[in-house]
Amino acid sequence: MKANNKRQHIVAGNWKMNKTFQEADELIDNLMTELENNDIADTKVIICPPAIYLEMASDMAEESYFMVGAQNVNENESGAYTGEISAAMLEALELEYCIVGHSERRAYYHETDAIVAKKVDALLKHNIKPIVCCGEVLEEREANRHFDVIKRQIQEGLFHLTAEEFANVVIAYEPVWAIGTGKTATPEQAQEIHAYIRGLIAEKYGAEVADTTSILYGGSCKPGNAKELFAKPDVDGGLIGGACLKADDFMAIIKAF
Ligand code: PEP
Repeated sequence: MKANNKRQHIVAGNWKMNKTFQEADELIDNLMTELENNDIADTKVIICPPAIYLEMASDMAEESYFMVGAQNVNENESGAYTGEISAAMLEALELEYCIVGHSERRAYYHETDAIVAKKVDALLKHNIKPIVCCGEVLEEREANRHFDVIKRQIQEGLFHLTAEEFANVVIAYEPVWAIGTGKTATPEQAQEIHAYIRGLIAEKYGAEVADTTSILYGGSCKPGNAKELFAKPDVDGGLIGGACLKADDFMAIIKAF
């Protein structure tokens, strides 16, 4: 256990577009059994299933120790946005979290930093905590531009918030070259960027806010490497993709603290 007890440890599972209804029900059921049989100490566990399963997950969460988040939200309050889901709708399901700015949404759905900022605002207005993703692509790291990219994403996506609003934000550092590739950032690479992000927050909002902001690592985090990553002083947990699709793997990561 790390000396730092100011920050909430969080392990969040991003299911992406996986699982049929039956499989989703089974996975949550298995996770509930795992959570009942294991001591998760003070780690907050969040699952982010596809939107169509949010209501079921939210109902099941009432009987267990996990919380539920969405994978995406529309930035507008309501209206003619076919296929989209609003923050008010997520709030009505009593969801606590929503992922914003995932690299897949940035790459495939043209989600810019300006849109991320609007989505963050929409969520906070409806009392939902945004899990805001940032991270560089391989070419940016190879060109030594990763610090600049992260700085831009954090500043433009989040630094319009007041300190009070910012206190509800969780950040996930997800190097794009590590997502779904099996190529994890080393614990040292993760620590370097997490410390850098915390420094940016301290400059903008002061040390107290920076010291209480949870910063998660995401990118091929697995049972075999989670312990080393989570041992780093500025890594407060993980945003897990592939390895959250099996309850025992996800549980092993949760227990890595
Ligand atoms: C993700 O997409 O948020 C992620 C971390 O995926 P994976 O763990 O599969 O790399």
